[in-house]
Amino acid sequence: MAAATPATELASCFTTLDNLLAAEEGPRVLSCIQCGTCVGACPYGDVMQYPPRRIIAMLRAGMIEQVFRSESLLTCVACYACMAKCPRDIRLTEILLPLVKERTLLELPELPAELQRALQNMLRYGNPMGESARKRAAWVKTAGVPIRILGESPGPVDVLWFVECYSSYYARGQDNARATARLFQALGTDFAILGNEEKCAGECGRLTWEPGLYETLMDSNMAVFRKYDFQRVVTSCPHAHNAFSTRYPAAGFNWPLDIAAGYFFRNLDKLRPRLTKKLGYKVAYHDPCCLRRQDEFFEAPRGLLRALPGVKLVEMAHNRMNSLCCGGGGGGMWLDTYYKVKGYERLSERRVKEAIATGADVLAVSCPYEVSRFEDALKVLGHDKQMIVRDVVELVAEAMEV
Ligand code: SF4
Ligand code: SF4
Repeated sequence: MAAATPATELASCFTTLDNLLAAEEGPRVLSCIQCGTCVGACPYGDVMQYPPRRIIAMLRAGMIEQVFRSESLLTCVACYACMAKCPRDIRLTEILLPLVKERTLLELPELPAELQRALQNMLRYGNPMGESARKRAAWVKTAGVPIRILGESPGPVDVLWFVECYSSYYARGQDNARATARLFQALGTDFAILGNEEKCAGECGRLTWEPGLYETLMDSNMAVFRKYDFQRVVTSCPHAHNAFSTRYPAAGFNWPLDIAAGYFFRNLDKLRPRLTKKLGYKVAYHDPCCLRRQDEFFEAPRGLLRALPGVKLVEMAHNRMNSLCCGGGGGGMWLDTYYKVKGYERLSERRVKEAIATGADVLAVSCPYEVSRFEDALKVLGHDKQMIVRDVVELVAEAMEV
């Protein structure tokens, strides 16, 4: 099982496909034993023409150009399942697959329109929805608690909360943002946000196809970070967490970093006296792949859920290291139309079927993107009366209601 890549190792790795085999990761790639474990672990392994095993075989045979000309990696949703299982610890999701995607981008005549639009929006507006940057902090007016925006009120702060795109703009994501703000306030946390100065962290750009876009967004966010005085970063989004813990260190990101559920779990003893409302839910929890299937992220959301009065936590057949992807990573969020045309099963639908099988009435997540994906899948499958989707942070805030 591949261990998590230390940020410093990734930060020092500016490998391209041309120098990959001669670079630090090269010997590991060449150590592939063609066991096919990655194919079996891949949620699209049955339809992917060039899964990691075959990509490496083509690299060795000097035939990688054929991979660039195929649409194969449009089915890679950057879920880390192959990397987590590879017996040779090859950095498949973090290094090999993005490099192949990057070159494929140059060779494919065109990307599916939905994905292309999202990438253009990230570049032009700093978010994949194409919303105005000026509206990024508009949700703050509805938060119900005071929220400091550093551009308006500079000065030292303890926690810089990186809200991210879906929690800033998307209606259900804003529920997550409001809940997070309420929990910070309940804890007495000294926190602030970047407001209109924040841009998409860019992870979906990098793991999708667009390293140039990723660098642009990273440079912009790092320039804003450097303007302010804060002690740690907490983010609501696993995609941003992935970006900050892998590539941003190369640009100087060195602040302690938490995913929101992790921060609140660390402070659970202080929150516990406020958790008085009995919820009466049977909850199945979905692990977000973007947190790189690392042990440290499995327990915090579950610990929070167990602390809520009237919540019974159940596990889906695939959980923790073996979790099933929602299909939204690596650009999958914007490839639903493409998958439908190709006749591929939507992974979000596969996952909610598993959640329904547990008998749970709530599917809990730790990612604002997943809320939208799973709510849509439940609706499409006709299970939206049977099960609701909630971010763990929303459930904690609900348990604080009197
Ligand atoms: S799991 Fe690792 S060693 Fe096995 S075929 Fe895939 S890349 Fe090669
Ligand atoms: S990252 Fe996930 S989707 Fe991509 S090849 Fe690996 S297992 Fe398949």
